[in-house]
Amino acid sequence: MPVATPIALDHPLTSLPGVGPERAAQLARLKLHTVGDLLLHRARRHEDRRHFRSIADLHPGESATTRGRIVALGTKRWRGGTKSVFEFILDDGTARLHCRWWNLPFMEKYFHQGDEVFVYGRLGSLKPRAIDHPETEVVEAGEENFIHLNRIVPVYPLTEGLPQRWLRSFLWRLLAQYEAQIREPWPKLPLPDTPTRAKAIHMLHFPEEMLDAEIARRRLALDEFIKLQVEIQRRRKRLQASARALPCAGDNRLIRPFLKQLGFKLTEAQTKVLREIRQDMGGKQPMRRLLQGDVGAGKTVVAACSALMASESGYNVALMAPTEILAEQHFQIFTRWFKPLGIDVQLRTGSRKTSNIEHRTSNVEQGGSANSAFRVPRSAFLTVGTHALIESGFAPDNLGLVVIDEQHKFGVAQREKLVRKGNYPHLLVMTATPIPRTLGLTLYGDLDISVIDEKPGGRGRIKTFVRAADTLPKVFEFIRAKLKDGRQVYVVYPRVEESDKSELKAVIRECEKLRAELAPYPVGLLHGRLETEEKEDVMNAFRANRIRVLVATSVIEVGVDVPNATVMLIENAEQFGLAQLHQLRGRIGRGAHESYCILVADLKTDEAKQRLKVLAETADGFRIAEEDLKLRGPGELLGREQSGLPSFRFGDLAADRGLVERARDLAGRILAGDGN
Ligand code: ADP
Ligand code: MG
Repeated sequence: MPVATPIALDHPLTSLPGVGPERAAQLARLKLHTVGDLLLHRARRHEDRRHFRSIADLHPGESATTRGRIVALGTKRWRGGTKSVFEFILDDGTARLHCRWWNLPFMEKYFHQGDEVFVYGRLGSLKPRAIDHPETEVVEAGEENFIHLNRIVPVYPLTEGLPQRWLRSFLWRLLAQYEAQIREPWPKLPLPDTPTRAKAIHMLHFPEEMLDAEIARRRLALDEFIKLQVEIQRRRKRLQASARALPCAGDNRLIRPFLKQLGFKLTEAQTKVLREIRQDMGGKQPMRRLLQGDVGAGKTVVAACSALMASESGYNVALMAPTEILAEQHFQIFTRWFKPLGIDVQLRTGSRKTSNIEHRTSNVEQGGSANSAFRVPRSAFLTVGTHALIESGFAPDNLGLVVIDEQHKFGVAQREKLVRKGNYPHLLVMTATPIPRTLGLTLYGDLDISVIDEKPGGRGRIKTFVRAADTLPKVFEFIRAKLKDGRQVYVVYPRVEESDKSELKAVIRECEKLRAELAPYPVGLLHGRLETEEKEDVMNAFRANRIRVLVATSVIEVGVDVPNATVMLIENAEQFGLAQLHQLRGRIGRGAHESYCILVADLKTDEAKQRLKVLAETADGFRIAEEDLKLRGPGELLGREQSGLPSFRFGDLAADRGLVERARDLAGRILAGDGN
C-alpha cells in the first residue's frame, strides 16, 4: 500500500507481550502476522451489549442476544455413546432457555453451574425455549470487563483454541497503543465526510453505534478502491509516457474488398466502433480498448476489420480466445475471410502448434498476383490461438495488434503477457459479458470502452420460458416439432468439473436418454474432458447439420455460432448465474427463425423463481448483469475462471458503486499531484 504506514504497524505480533508461540500459530492460521494485519481483522458481527432481549422476549425464528445464569447442565448420550447432546439451562429471571449442542460432548468443559453467559442465536422452539448451537461467551470477573460489557462489542472469526475474549482485549490494547500511529494515506485529499483512517479502524472494532461499523467499512473500502485506481491510472500513464504507437490505421485496400464479399452490411454500431478503433490505431498512443457487445452483436467482424487495418499497414496480428473450440471456430472463419485477401492465418492451441490451411503462393507475397488483386505487405499474417499464444514459443515479429476475445475469461496478467510479445502493439479486448460500471472501472479502468449497442437486423427473437422438471415430456414434444421443421437444438447441463467422474457419467447417461427420446434424430455430446479432436469433430458435425441435437456442458458458453440452432434447453438452470444463462442463450437467435430458450429448473424456492424470471422478462444484458452482481457477487458474475478480479478486504463491488466512482476521481487528483 502506498499508504504511509509507519513501520510499527509492520511489527510481528510475536514481538508483543502476551503472544507466545502457541498464540502466534493460532493467529497465523487466520493470516494475522503483523500489528497491521490484526488492526484490519474484521469482526464477523457486532453485538450490542447495552441492550439485551430478556429470555421471555425471544421470538421464534429470530436471532438475538440474551444473557443469564446457568442453573443446570449435563450431557445425554445414546447409541452406545456415539450420539450425544450437551445442554445447559439459562435463567435470567424472566424465563428459562435451553442451549443445546448435538454431538459435541467436549462443550461440557467450557461451562459451569452459576456461570453468567451471553448467548447469541436463533430461537428454534418455544416449548421449551431452546437455541441449538448458539454462540456463547462466559462473563468473567476482571478489570477488563468494560471492554466486553455494556457496549457494542466485536465478535471475531476465530480458530481452534483462540478465545473471543482474549482477542477482543488484545485488540483493545493494540488500538490504544497504535491508533495514533495510523496516518492518513492521502493527506491532501479532501475527505470531509469520512472519518480519518485511524478513527475508522477504531470504529471498525469498537463502534459507538451499530451504524458506525458500516461507516468505518466504507472509509476503508474507499482506501482500497483509491489504491487500486492509482495503480490502474499509473499503469496507463506509464504506457503513455513510454510507448510510441505503431501506425496501424491502414488504408482500406483490404477492408473494402473484405466488406464487399461479406454478405451483409455492418450495423451502425459496428461502423461507429470501427471509427473509434481506426482513430486509436492511427493515434500517438497504443490502443487500449475494451469492446463490449452482447452475444451475437457481431464483435468478430469488428475484430476482423481491425486486423485488416494492421495488415494493410504491414503488421501482424494475434488473436487469443479462451477455449480450443472457439479458437478453432475463429480460425475457420478468419481463414475463409482472409485467405482470398492473401493473408496467412495460423492456428496455435495446446494441442496444435501451428497449422496453416495453405501457404500463400509466392506471387501473392510479391504483391500482384492473378488470383489475388490485393497487395499484401510481405508476410502479413494472423495467428489465432488459445493460452498457448502466451507461452514462450510464440514470438511473432512485427506484432501490430493483439485481440483478446472473451476477455473476462483471462486475467490482466495474461493480457499483458501477450501484449509484451510485441513492441507496444495495439490492444483490443472483447467481451460479451456486459460489465456493470463498478466492475468495469475496477477491472478495466485502464481501457477505453466501446459498446456495440445494437444487434444486426433480420434475427428472429428469442422467447424464454421457465419450466419445472415435471413438464419435460411436453418440452420434448416441442423439441421434436422443431427438429421436424429442420432446426437444431442445444441441450445444456451445468458444467462438468474436470475432476468429477460421477458428474460426467450423469451427463453421458442423460445424453443416452435423450438419444432414445429424440430418435431418430442424431444427438451429439460435447464436454470438457473430450480430446480436442473429438471436440472439433462434434462441433463440425453440428455446424454441418449432421448432428441435430448437441448435448453439452457449458463449454459451448462462449462464441459458438450456428444460426440454424434455434432451441436451447438448459437443465438445472438454477445452478447457473443469470449472466451465464444469458450468454448461453446467445447461442440461439442467430438466424432468421424464431428461437426458444427453455430453462428447466428446480423451482422450489421463490428466490430461484424470481432470479430466472429476470431472464424471461428482459434481453438487456446490462440489466441482467447488474441483477447477477447484486444476487451473486462479482466472482460468480464473471465466471469461475476469472482471475483478474482483485480481492478486497472491505470493498464490496456489488454494493459500493458510488465509492468506486469516487475513488477513480480521487485517484486522478492524486496522480495530478494535488492529492498526495
Ligand atoms: P459476438 O459479438 O457474440 O462475437 P459474432 O461476431 O459471432 O457475435 O456474430 C454473430 C453472427 O452475426 C455471426 O454469424 C455474424 O456473421 C453475424 N453478423 C455480424 N455482423 C452482422 C451484420 N452487420 N449483419 C448481419 N449479420 C451479422
Ligand atoms: Mg464472439
